[in-house]
Amino acid sequence: MLDITSLKNLLAKPQKIVITTHHKPDGDAMGSSLGLYNYLIQQGHHTTVITPTDYPDFLSWMPGNAEVIIYTEQTEQAKALIADADIVFCLDFNNLSRINEMGEEVRASKAYKIMIDHHLEPEDFDDFRHWDINACAAAQLVYTFIVDVLDNKKLINKDVATCLYTGIMTDSGSFRLPNTTSAVHRVVADLIDAGAVNYRIHELVYNSASENRLRFLGHCLSNCLEVLPEFNTAIIVVSKQDLEKYHVNTGDTEGVVNYALSMASIRLAAFIVERPGMVKLSLRSKGDFPANEICKLYFSGGGHRNAAGGQSPLSLQEVVNQFKLILPEYKKLLIQ
Ligand code: 5GP
Ligand code: MN
Repeated sequence: MLDITSLKNLLAKPQKIVITTHHKPDGDAMGSSLGLYNYLIQQGHHTTVITPTDYPDFLSWMPGNAEVIIYTEQTEQAKALIADADIVFCLDFNNLSRINEMGEEVRASKAYKIMIDHHLEPEDFDDFRHWDINACAAAQLVYTFIVDVLDNKKLINKDVATCLYTGIMTDSGSFRLPNTTSAVHRVVADLIDAGAVNYRIHELVYNSASENRLRFLGHCLSNCLEVLPEFNTAIIVVSKQDLEKYHVNTGDTEGVVNYALSMASIRLAAFIVERPGMVKLSLRSKGDFPANEICKLYFSGGGHRNAAGGQSPLSLQEVVNQFKLILPEYKKLLIQ
């Protein structure tokens, strides 16, 4: 275990540092990782961000992106960096299974492991933890880690601010989810003062879709959406053939589930998609409906109350049937 003083002493000298985040990185995963990266490089640390898998183009513009190593594409280099690291930062996840094969390499590494995260039920693998389930984004926690834990607000430059703004913006649903507190708005105000150009970041993330993505979205809403009014639930089911027909790339499926949730009466929305070797589920809910409980109990997953995910080895149709069979159990919560 590391206490704050030992952590500060450790970071006072240049170290070999790896920053990693969950597989299929989202805006918060990349924003928090690159925000911390842009902070650490100012202090002379040899720092590398390693993602377990690739990530969408609408996230590949952030400062430091060109230096990111993708484990599945540069495996040997990534393995060597992990084995040789003095410190591994684990951002936006708290269970080593969330970084696929990299998990056991991080566990085996002699490095100090520092977790910065906002998910429930952390696994006990870390040496220092900056963890708060009330934070709206891991990027918010990277901000408080730099400002409050390390007392180094002056190093929040334009690059750090741009990345952290992106993380907070995406994980808070553009500042509209219930965890977007006044404290979050104060952090975001600081980030804008430090150089984050808010309107430009919105453009880069939200107005950068390909034509394929829009046509795929149209297909999902016209042909793959099923509304189950007796459960205030809507599901979007997408097959391997749909993904092929619309040339769907990494990230094109991101956010589609939110359209199902945007209907007035809907309390639970699911996006169920056939991926190679597994079916992946993305659940979103309104209010106090525990989407993460369904993912944890039935689909080897988890997440937050209003945004959760999981997977299943069963066929697409079997997963859809299983999902529908679960709903009566939650009927009371869904129709209130
Ligand atoms: P998404 O639907 O965007 O893939 O995931 C939404 C949230 O659910 C993520 O931020 C993450 O917290 C959680 N999540 C998604 N997939 C999994 C999974 O397989 N396991 C766990 N534990 N959480 C997941
Ligand atoms: Mn997050």
